[in-house]
Amino acid sequence: MFNNIRAWLALLFISSATINYAELRHIRKTDPEAKCGYASCHPTKPNMLNVHLVAHTHDDVGWLKTVDQYYYGSETLIQKAGVQYIIDSVVASLLKDPAKRFIYVESAFFFKWWKEQTPELQEQVKMLVNEGRLEFIGGAWSMNDEATTHYQSTIDQFAWGLRKLNDTFGECGRPRVGWQIDPFGHSREMASMFAQMGFDGMFFGRLDYQDKDERLMTKKAEMIWHGSANLAEKADLFTGALYNNYQAPPGFCFDILCADQPIIDGKHSPDNNVKQKIDAFFEFVTKMSKGYRTPNLLITMGEDFHYQNADMWYKNLDKLIKYANERQANGSNINLLYSTPSCYLKSLHDAGISWPTKSDDFFPYASDPHAYWTGYFSSRPTLKRYERDGNHFLQVCKQLGALTPKQSPEFEAHLGFMRETMGIMQHHDAVTGTEKQKVALDYAKRLSVAIRACGANMRNILNTLSLGSKQNELDGSKNNVLEFKTCTLLNISSCSVSETNERFALTLYNPLAHSTNEYVRIPVPDYKYIVLDHAGKRVPTQVVPVPKALIQIKHRKSSAAFELVFQATQLPPVGYKTYYIEKNSNATRSLAPTAMPKKSSSYTSIGNKQIKLTFDTNGFLSQVTADEMTRMISQEFLYYEAAVGDNREFLNRSSGAYIFRPYKNKYHFAADQVDIVVYKGDLVQEVHQQFNEWISQVVRVYSDSNHAEFEWLVGPIPIDDKMGKEVITRFNSDIESNGIFYTDSNGREMLKRQRDHRDSWYVRIHEAVSGNYYPVTAKIALEDKLARMAILTDRAQGGSSLKDGALELMVHRRLLHDDAFGVDESLNETEYGAGLIARGKHHLFVGQSHLRPSISLQALERVAQLETLLPSWRFFSNMSAFSSTQWLSKFKNMYTGIASALPKHIHLLTLEPWHHNELLVRFEHILEQQDDPILSKYVQFNVRDVLSGFNIQNMRETTLDGNAWLDEHQRLQFVPDAAGEDYNSYATFSRAAKSVHLLRADKPQLDALYSSEALPAGPLAAESNRIKRSVESKHFTMHRGGAHMHSKPVKQAQDKYLIELSPMEIRTFVVYLG
Ligand SMILES: [Zn+2]
Repeated sequence: MFNNIRAWLALLFISSATINYAELRHIRKTDPEAKCGYASCHPTKPNMLNVHLVAHTHDDVGWLKTVDQYYYGSETLIQKAGVQYIIDSVVASLLKDPAKRFIYVESAFFFKWWKEQTPELQEQVKMLVNEGRLEFIGGAWSMNDEATTHYQSTIDQFAWGLRKLNDTFGECGRPRVGWQIDPFGHSREMASMFAQMGFDGMFFGRLDYQDKDERLMTKKAEMIWHGSANLAEKADLFTGALYNNYQAPPGFCFDILCADQPIIDGKHSPDNNVKQKIDAFFEFVTKMSKGYRTPNLLITMGEDFHYQNADMWYKNLDKLIKYANERQANGSNINLLYSTPSCYLKSLHDAGISWPTKSDDFFPYASDPHAYWTGYFSSRPTLKRYERDGNHFLQVCKQLGALTPKQSPEFEAHLGFMRETMGIMQHHDAVTGTEKQKVALDYAKRLSVAIRACGANMRNILNTLSLGSKQNELDGSKNNVLEFKTCTLLNISSCSVSETNERFALTLYNPLAHSTNEYVRIPVPDYKYIVLDHAGKRVPTQVVPVPKALIQIKHRKSSAAFELVFQATQLPPVGYKTYYIEKNSNATRSLAPTAMPKKSSSYTSIGNKQIKLTFDTNGFLSQVTADEMTRMISQEFLYYEAAVGDNREFLNRSSGAYIFRPYKNKYHFAADQVDIVVYKGDLVQEVHQQFNEWISQVVRVYSDSNHAEFEWLVGPIPIDDKMGKEVITRFNSDIESNGIFYTDSNGREMLKRQRDHRDSWYVRIHEAVSGNYYPVTAKIALEDKLARMAILTDRAQGGSSLKDGALELMVHRRLLHDDAFGVDESLNETEYGAGLIARGKHHLFVGQSHLRPSISLQALERVAQLETLLPSWRFFSNMSAFSSTQWLSKFKNMYTGIASALPKHIHLLTLEPWHHNELLVRFEHILEQQDDPILSKYVQFNVRDVLSGFNIQNMRETTLDGNAWLDEHQRLQFVPDAAGEDYNSYATFSRAAKSVHLLRADKPQLDALYSSEALPAGPLAAESNRIKRSVESKHFTMHRGGAHMHSKPVKQAQDKYLIELSPMEIRTFVVYLG
């Protein structure tokens, strides 16, 4: 269906409208009196080792306790942690002494606290922020995970957190530094996003222990991270690995939660320990300084939920600083100061030296030779899927919230709640599955409430849109004539509206900016239905039985034994189409699905003209034909036996919520014979496979599809044998992949992986399976010169290629032991008294790797990735009150919110109501430079044509988060090492230890690119004078991609609404409405 390139090229008519330069509002400036940011840093001392003490607290937005339990400080027997007390206490301490500094990270907690404060205290806190004494770092709603999160959700939760900070504090509330101190490994895409959001740098805590050793030894713990293979310097981020995760040096934890001795300075006290403490501290910093390049060190003074009694920390820090700095009179060259990560970063910047670079990511993370944190890539598979549903509905809710002709007072609160809930879901103990069971249930409950709240908005808005001008014709029709209900149990093929009504409507809302065709499946109790499209025309249908294994789930209370399938065509972009579905008792028996006769002696095939799948006599997939070639491809389910140990030494590590550790790397086949039933019809062909009592699958190919779908159903994973199990699906092929495979980074760029290898450091892997696992948020692939195989996932999963030609993905895990990283529970999820059952989909693409005559397979995969991430949202309405004729005449059954569709590889990433009379809009080019020879090029279009339904007054480009003007925002620049410089200048093993933290005197200072803050917007501004290309035709234009973005002569376009996107580029705008 994608063969015709022209089908991609939606027409975009370019208009040149006059622009009203209305006053641009709503990004707040700095208070003129304020002295925040780098200007508020305490000075460092030249020729000394400056030790930046960073007072901080790490407040998980749920982990062992729920978000609210952490905030209010309840359930102290689980953990003594109350965030409200922390902020109360810190603010009081800061107000007493202008020298003190504190950083705060999680906006979810901060704004909960803020709302409860008196206006007087709020003013005092604003003063603290304006003076840089209280500084926001990170600033997103939560400190998001980086392996299992999708970039759309990460951007959203930063946009919302930073917006609340800007609304409340103006520019002084804007964080300059990312602070990812606890996530379990770090993605390259996250670095790219931080850079595009305008952050100057980022610090983190966890990296592989071998990588860390090597980096400290060679002074490469701080670096310039190239965040993108497509976006050049604008995705570069200065990044630093912290020395001691985020903890205080041993012996210097002064919190009420710690047991270290305070600094006892009573002159005659028998316990006086000043000398001993300062000696120990100096020993620590001297050792630490050997790992870093400049005479500055960042020392984290705090930990999880510290500072509930801030004075205790500060009193001891005051003494530490005082007694340490007193030694300077006697020749000490160590200088301690209250600081923040951004002040530390500024010192690094001002040192004027060069830095190493890095282009790979920090996955997987191992904390010791047998603890690979690769289990959480797959832990809690149903929560991970639910989170993805949440993102899907949030986008629908935002779009319809922007499109509604009539605002209602509750809309904003409901949408805000959904945004905030999704922000919480991104936390590194939420979507990761590393929280306690009760906390996981709390997250799921929050999300279900948020979906209901947004659902109320949707019902209201869709009624308004579908009644249109006919609103008054209907009796009692003031509000909500139709239900527009979301069936949340479609994942188990159940929906009360379609099961209990003989007449109902299905409204398909398409959140993509191109029109789509989609196969729809509706759970129904019978097989006799007719489906009418928006114009009353009958649509071809097919009925298939709900898989037997699903019917047999005891707690599935549903009368739906069938799924009614039809193809919804030409779903309007950013709009909806409604179908009318009616029971038709006259239908003949021939509509009933019948299984193909069983053939035990020959092969079975399903497929269409584009792709054909063959199953062997044992019921396994055996080959795939696509792109005029046939490859041996099989698929099977296996499980690893989870390692069990007492966790007292590395070798005895158990597999757990964080850690994946298969016992002796042994796997077991789920079945050697698969029972299959085959259904074939005009719309879809399906093979229903039963592997064993707890694993089944439906493999299907729709008649118009270029790929195959594998819908797996796994669980309850049996544990009668007292063995934890980690279940994988594995696709084996004859593709000669040579140890190389590819996984996505947060759903965007693909990263090359090589078995038993890391790109930027030498690795010794002691866990052959889990040490080769990588996070798969959306896609895993491999190829050789001829063929390519890719699998799209519907949620985050761990995956790998452990032998050439094979790809595996972990779909479910059930464990009986804890891995001793704090959660203190085994990951043994149950529902309705039995082990949790999970259901999900994989999309398999097979084809020519390079020689396709038309669009590349990679490009087709990208579009499918988008269409599976954001398919149409299904709204069901009971139609008992309206016959099909009445329905046709009374309702507007098709609607689009945009005037011109975008090409399929341009994604309307964001369309949401922002401040009053404002929209926040993001456009994204979803292809990488290498994806497709024709489509991986610049695309140009006019925003006004796309959003022509809106009365646009003005538009201005922002950073990726939407809270700073792109042409005004500047980032600190860092200079990369010249070739060879890193080794010669910094490798400690080549130098005398006593001089390591001091730079060589003969090392020339690099030309200062710094202090760009002080420069006016202009030549150095990040993107201020982005050149617009001239309009070549009435169609949108595409230009060749590659490194020479603006090398050709270009004309300055007159129309600011005419924008251009290069491969992988995202551009963000605030659009002002009249
Ligand atoms: Zn944490």
